[in-house]
Amino acid sequence: MTLYNLSIHDAAERLRKKEISSRELTLSVLERIAKTDTKVKAYITLNEDQALAQADQADQAISKGIARPLTGIPLSIKDLICTQGLLTTCASKILENFVPTYDATVIEKLKAQGAVILGKVNMDEFAMGSTTEHSGFKITANPWNLDHTPGGSSGGSAASVAADMCLGSLGSDTGGSIRQPASHCSVVGLKPTYGRVSRYGLVAFASSLDQIGPLTKNVKDCALMMNAIAGYDPKDSTSVNECVPDFTATLTQSIKGKKIGIPREYFSTEGIDPDVKNSIDQALDTLKSLGAQCVDISLPHTPYAVAAYYVIAPSEASSNLARFDGVKYGIRDMEQTELVDMYKKSRSRGFGLEVQRRIIIGTYALSSGYYDAYYKKASQVRTLIIRDFKAAFESCDILISPVSPSPASIIGQHSEDPLKMYLSDIFTISANMAGIPGLSVPCGFNQMGLPVGLHLMGRHFDEATLLNVAHCFESATDFHTKRPSL
Ligand code: GLN
Repeated sequence: MTLYNLSIHDAAERLRKKEISSRELTLSVLERIAKTDTKVKAYITLNEDQALAQADQADQAISKGIARPLTGIPLSIKDLICTQGLLTTCASKILENFVPTYDATVIEKLKAQGAVILGKVNMDEFAMGSTTEHSGFKITANPWNLDHTPGGSSGGSAASVAADMCLGSLGSDTGGSIRQPASHCSVVGLKPTYGRVSRYGLVAFASSLDQIGPLTKNVKDCALMMNAIAGYDPKDSTSVNECVPDFTATLTQSIKGKKIGIPREYFSTEGIDPDVKNSIDQALDTLKSLGAQCVDISLPHTPYAVAAYYVIAPSEASSNLARFDGVKYGIRDMEQTELVDMYKKSRSRGFGLEVQRRIIIGTYALSSGYYDAYYKKASQVRTLIIRDFKAAFESCDILISPVSPSPASIIGQHSEDPLKMYLSDIFTISANMAGIPGLSVPCGFNQMGLPVGLHLMGRHFDEATLLNVAHCFESATDFHTKRPSL
């Protein structure tokens, strides 16, 4: 029996029944990585010895009858979430030697459940990008077609789940970085409500937008991971003390009568790929056949979302990344004798081009004289976007759209034109601007066999409804059962 292709809830049940051990499961996944990752290139750091030690600990716990839902389950972690004693690079040369002395809260929570940490996976440097081509180390390939990107920035997470090189993963989402690669790799990805999951120990990109969330093989696994990581954390001042439901409890509830809003502006967006449009239309038919009602909704400020995001996110990034100065962290240019020259040279050598571009844009937007015209204006637009969602949720329970206007790009396709890459975030960034939860669930393939994802957005702290609708959709379709041949 192959074990690496099990889902989290399947594996958990077999572990509990002692049909398999966590050591066997972990070894099977490690073998899979050894065989497959030469092609996919998802992992930056493998944690083999510790992973096996954690697996043995999990087996001991299980033998004593203490099994939590993630006990003994092998997971991968995006390389911007701090792991004690384990390299955390943010896929940046500037942090190529950074070994955190502490665990992020989400890692503490996974370890408390007895999960196995397989290693750290690739991403766009500091999570800036939509393709995972902007890693300082390597380009990850899409397991469905190795000439294509896996999406990004959590491309290593999505690719490692899709290629069965872990049972689930943690990613981060500032403007779509969990949902978009999930969509491009045919896995489930959830960006929780801002404040739902602690960001303590997440290396910050844009602090008012960043959220950590799960990427999994199916919706139930996503709910299980949410149960493990959600909740108030006094160490994160943006975390919210809101009661956390059991996300698995309402998965199978009927969605009869649920009101699904179809944002008019999203579907009139020029440039939606016809195969993507087709898959979304079919998904809507499936939801209707399950009893959901579709309502026409307007989000009138959608056309300004990308522009506002690409002022706010780089502004916050320029401030957050100021700490990487060659002194406190990361590589230092040793040839300079003057302090300012050392800062400049270390940062020029350590940061890649996309990160430098964002720092320059952000510093400009925040500079005196320009602040009102750019950052303040963008923040005002953000308020209008928040109001759009508030009004929309008065007449519907969730909103639906494509995750991305087109399937995964070919490697190199956007290299000459970053604007094109930015524009592909049109459907995902508004959820970050408004702080609402968003989920991607597999809903089809284009004619070339590249995956398409369905995007669900919900009210603040209503991840349960997203998971419920996604689970019913998943149960009525078979896209999540398909696996790439590698
Ligand atoms: N693609 C977006 C960007 O480049 C979002 C990235 C993210 O969510 N981390 O900023």
